Amino acid sequence: MGVKKSKTAIMSHDPAQLLESVSRCTQNGFIGSDLEDKVTCFSPILENLTGWSEEEALGKDVKSFYFIPEEENLAKQDAFSAQVAILFTKDGRKLSFPTRQTEIHDKYGKADGKLLFFVVDSFNKDIDQLQSEFVSTVSHELRTPITSIKGFASTLLQHKSHFPEEKRNKYIKIIKDQAERLARLVEDLLAVSRIDAKKLQFTIHPVQISQYLETTALLIENKYGGSHKITVDIEQNIPDVWVDADRLEQIFTNLIDNAVKYSPDSDKVEIQVGKIHKDEKTMVKVAIRDYGIGIEEKFLAKIFSKFSRLDNPLSRKTEGTGLGLYISHSLARIMNGHLSVESGPGGSTFKLYLPTEFFEVGDKSWD
Ligand code: ADP
Repeated sequence: MGVKKSKTAIMSHDPAQLLESVSRCTQNGFIGSDLEDKVTCFSPILENLTGWSEEEALGKDVKSFYFIPEEENLAKQDAFSAQVAILFTKDGRKLSFPTRQTEIHDKYGKADGKLLFFVVDSFNKDIDQLQSEFVSTVSHELRTPITSIKGFASTLLQHKSHFPEEKRNKYIKIIKDQAERLARLVEDLLAVSRIDAKKLQFTIHPVQISQYLETTALLIENKYGGSHKITVDIEQNIPDVWVDADRLEQIFTNLIDNAVKYSPDSDKVEIQVGKIHKDEKTMVKVAIRDYGIGIEEKFLAKIFSKFSRLDNPLSRKTEGTGLGLYISHSLARIMNGHLSVESGPGGSTFKLYLPTEFFEVGDKSWD
């Protein structure tokens, strides 16, 4: 009954006026298109972001304005997904935003086009606020290992002659582990600052993916003492990918490590590698599937942001900086690839798309 009521209320308005009012009330933007993928509406927020006016956009192919590396997922009903779309600005920049997509129906319920909704507001935080959040999070993350190192080192110094060797070794091991944690954090912070300052160097060459994937999978299997079987299934005749091999390894390590770390009650991680063709381009797709705790829908849009540790008991228990996915997502994008995620209560699948042709990094792939 409730649904019917609200439908009647909406029907009493002119749909075009209603859409305009909605677009005025939200920080988010949308593009509507018909069945031939021609733009039918272009909201004011997108006009501001891209520099295109609605007049310029109407009737043009949507491909001139955005690109979704992974549209195939939209048909899936069994998982919620954060599609990241690349929005093209009039002056040649590329902006990436989480998006939602829905079909538009005509009055008989038949598909009539689609509406792509860009989640912009989460990106519009005040810069000062972001900076102070960043400084406070970094200080907190640094303080934890420093406190341990200081505490255990002082105890050892004060009482070293009374401690049995076993206990001494245990304390020294804690100090070493915490120092390594600190080093990892500093490495991640450096990577983030170089990414943000656009100062990371890339050496792009053709890379055979299997070699890196299989080695990383084995290393992580060993790191966790064989708690998970990590299988790698590679389609035949996979072309080489054009990437920086070290950065690729960094992405694989982060994604596979997370897949194991956030699935304590499962014993497997599955990796599939295949080709996809999109807009006359061939890309290699690496899908890393786990059967773990999954990611709640409301967090999906911010998972690729800095320090996006989600507040769940497992995140609190496991070690991490919340920078890995930000770094992986940025590295993939800079190398003309893309990283997306699909997740639900049954686990997560991270999908990495990589180019199979040479390209220049550091120009238009930067926001
Ligand atoms: P962290 O160092 O905390 O693992 P990441 O940037 O790699 O940082 O991941 C950010 C957050 O995203 C994690 O803290 C975790 O809450 C969530 N996450 C990442 N990968 C997965 C996964 N495979 N399954 C469930 N949650 C995940």
